Amino acid sequence: MSRVKSLAKSVAVLMATALPMIPVTAQEAPQPVSQQVPANAPRLIVAIAIDQLSSDVFAQYRQRFTGGFARLTQGAVFPAGYQSHAATETCPGHSTILTGNRPAHTGIIANSWIDQSVTVGPNVVYCAEDVAQRSAGSKDYVASTVHLLVPTLGEWMKQANPAARNIAVSGKDRGALMMGGHNIDQVYWWKGKGFATLNGRDIGPAAVAQNDEITKALAKGAPEFPLPDYCRRADRAIKAGSATVGNGHFALKAGDANAFRTSPRLDRATLDLGLKLVDEQKLGKGAVPDVLSVSLSATDYVGHSTGTEGAEMCIQLTQLDMALGDFFASLDKRGIDYGVVLTADHGGFDLPERLHEQALDKASRVSSAVSATALSATLGKKYGLEAKDLVLSDGAAGDYWLRRDLAPGLKGKLVDDAKALLEADPQVEVVLSAAEIAATAMPTGSAETWTLAERARASYNPLHSGDFVVMLKRGVVPIPTPGPGYVATHGSPWDYDRRVPILFWRKGMTGFEQPSAIETVDIAPSLAAWIGLKIPEGAFDGRCLDLDGGPGNTCGAIR
Ligand SMILES: [Zn+2]
Repeated sequence: MSRVKSLAKSVAVLMATALPMIPVTAQEAPQPVSQQVPANAPRLIVAIAIDQLSSDVFAQYRQRFTGGFARLTQGAVFPAGYQSHAATETCPGHSTILTGNRPAHTGIIANSWIDQSVTVGPNVVYCAEDVAQRSAGSKDYVASTVHLLVPTLGEWMKQANPAARNIAVSGKDRGALMMGGHNIDQVYWWKGKGFATLNGRDIGPAAVAQNDEITKALAKGAPEFPLPDYCRRADRAIKAGSATVGNGHFALKAGDANAFRTSPRLDRATLDLGLKLVDEQKLGKGAVPDVLSVSLSATDYVGHSTGTEGAEMCIQLTQLDMALGDFFASLDKRGIDYGVVLTADHGGFDLPERLHEQALDKASRVSSAVSATALSATLGKKYGLEAKDLVLSDGAAGDYWLRRDLAPGLKGKLVDDAKALLEADPQVEVVLSAAEIAATAMPTGSAETWTLAERARASYNPLHSGDFVVMLKRGVVPIPTPGPGYVATHGSPWDYDRRVPILFWRKGMTGFEQPSAIETVDIAPSLAAWIGLKIPEGAFDGRCLDLDGGPGNTCGAIR
């Protein structure tokens, strides 16, 4: 049996023991599910993920919103939602939202991980890639949900009622695929200069029309966005390595597709495509509810390229608020009875160069001492081993792997040494071995009080996880050298990256604000109950939230 197969088998056994009702591989059929749509259920679920929208940034701008965000804050508002796991990256975050499962169960432990059994191309595996379809020499990968181990809400809906439509659009393939899942009617994401879909599928009329509009807009170029008064104090240049950020206003040079992608224009184009698909697929008009997933990526691109506290983020959120407002108004005009959930795949953190000027002098950039290369050299010398690829990782923080041909006893010694070496570094908070993490119980209770080991446990899946996990100190940014396009990031186990708003809205609902912590894995069970979808016991890590602020209870008997 190959390593991957035997691992898959042991994971299947492990997961089947822990969660008897959950399908453990993408290939296994989901368990029976039934649906009795309540007469007052929304006919279309619109699930929106704002990539990198932290609770902190949301709180900062909340009072400024007059468009789509303002509407949603009249609904059920949870300002302290948690992407509760440690590896707060895009792919794991999106995988929790509509599966109701933490990355430990979705299998999506990071954006990328190392698989030393890969024979074609590099051993870094992308979360939304089918490695089996790699071809030698090709730089492109085949987008797929093969690594997602659990079904999404849309898949449960389609299983209960095959007429239900499951549609997803995003600025990123992983955003669309992790929310849509395996059984998806239409899926589109930004690629290059327009929207693309899965290999073997045609681009439908809605996407063709959207791509035509984008081509024209790109050819024309566009002026800067206006700077609202409340953005003025943030409108200040900051130097970060070879990049200067803080005072960008997103003028678009004709033909610059990359500038289009890293601007508010990407989100508006994604929402426009969503609306075209609503019309084309007659969403919300059928006998049973449909689901439209919309993952909006520009906030993340703006965050990575310019940070969270500059004029760029201020303009981006202003424009996003307006685009969301227009999108909801268009749904209203079509007379669709829709329910919205809006959240984020993770939070974010500003760049150290600006944080230093803004009273956070402890923020820093990770040094090259915390790296797989440095560890390989030190440990190779100590044990007389070939240093090349002795220790592997995809970045300074997160999962690390040891060369797979090492004897288990030696591997254990190397993990212990790596832990001691790294924990002596002033930038490292803790190093947890896979054994320590696996021995930690899956956390329960409020996500804000979890230990770091518990956060790591929620991110741990033995099929994909490494031999140990490195957690940097709070405020240490894992980008050693900033440059144009990449000055700030997320991904840490700290709350600035874990805390995201979760907003539910529907016309006429009794809204409320609940400041206590909830989790993004609570979204899927809450939406399922909202539309009368009865999912087998044990299928979710999350719980149903009663979205009715009055005496009614949207969890009903399913709670
Ligand atoms: Zn993201």
